Amino acid sequence: MSQAQLLVVDRAACAGHGLCYGTAPDLIDCNDQGDPIVPDRPLGADEVELAREAILVCPERALTLATAPAAAAS
Ligand code: SF4
Repeated sequence: MSQAQLLVVDRAACAGHGLCYGTAPDLIDCNDQGDPIVPDRPLGADEVELAREAILVCPERALTLATAPAAAAS
């Protein structure tokens, strides 16, 4: 079973080119300053593929996939 993944932006590295949200607009939004806004939740399987495409086009290597923390047992 694969683990849930999060898309993470390194704000210090991001230069605001907009290539990521131009490539994956259904996954990544932007604010008025042109900063990318990524989902604040684990990605679905189809979203992981979009995230990988966005990661590949980012010239600053500011996007990464991270393993989401395991959900607490209820
Ligand atoms: S492509 Fe990379 S540097 Fe450009 S806005 Fe997206 S995360 Fe930032």
